[in-house]
Amino acid sequence: KGGVGKTTTAVNLGAYLASAGKRILLVDTDPQANATSSLGVDKNALGRSIYDMLIGVETAASLIMVTSCPSLDLLPSSPALAGAEVELVEMAGREVRLRHALEPIRPRYDYVLIDTPPSLGMLTVNALTAADGVLIPIQCEYLPLEGLTQLLRTIDLVRQSLNPSLIIRGLILTMFDARTNLSRQVVEEIRQHFPSTAFRVVIPRSVKISEAPSYGEPLTRFAPDSS
Ligand code: ATP
Ligand code: MG
Repeated sequence: KGGVGKTTTAVNLGAYLASAGKRILLVDTDPQANATSSLGVDKNALGRSIYDMLIGVETAASLIMVTSCPSLDLLPSSPALAGAEVELVEMAGREVRLRHALEPIRPRYDYVLIDTPPSLGMLTVNALTAADGVLIPIQCEYLPLEGLTQLLRTIDLVRQSLNPSLIIRGLILTMFDARTNLSRQVVEEIRQHFPSTAFRVVIPRSVKISEAPSYGEPLTRFAPDSS
C-alpha cells in the first residue's frame, strides 16, 4: 500500500541497526527513490542505479554507496527504474534477478533491508523473492485488514512458486496517534487478528520523522532523542 511508512521504516531501522554496530545495506527498489533521497543522495544526479544492476550491466558491488551513517550502505534507485517494471517482463529469470544480483554481497552485511514500491508489481515480486523475511508497516490511520489480506495472499503465492522459505517477520504499527480513536482501534484490530505477528512496540506519529527526509538524514542524526 502507498504511504504507510515502508521507506521511513527501512531507512530508520537501517540507521539504528547501523548505529548499534551492525553492517547494513539498504536496497532501494522503488523508482520514486525516496529511500535514496532520504539518505541525502540526489536521485536525479546519479549516473547509475539499481536499474543498471537489474538489466545486467552493473554488479551490486559496483553500485554500493557509503552514506553519512557509518556502516549503513546504500544501493540507490533512480527514476530510470520505472522502465524496469516493463522491461523485466521480457527478461530471463525476471523474478529472481534481484536475488541473484545480491547474492555475492550478502556476506558483507548483517542485514540487507529492501525498500519496495507501493504496487505489487515485478519489482516488489523481485524483493519478496530475494528476501528471507517481510516486515509489514501498518499505518494506524486506516483500518488495514482488506489491503493486508491481499498482501498476505501475494506473499503466499511467492512462497509457493519462488521463495518457499520466505517468512513474515512481523507487522509494525506506525503513525500511531494516541489522541484518536481510530489509531487505538487499528492497534486493537491488528493485535486481535495477528496476536503473535504484530510487534509490541508501536511507532508514534512524529513531526521529526516526516521532516528528516527533506534534510537527507535518518533520525539517528536528525533527531537522535526522538521517541
Ligand atoms: P510509498 O508507498 O509512496 O513508497 P511509504 O510506504 O514508503 O510510501 P513513507 O514514505 O515512509 O511511506 O511515509 C509516507 C509519509 O508519511 C512520508 O511523508 C513520511 O515522512 C511520513 N511518515 C512516515 N512515518 C511517520 C511517522 N511515524 N510520523 C509522521 N510522519 C510519518
Ligand atoms: Mg516508499
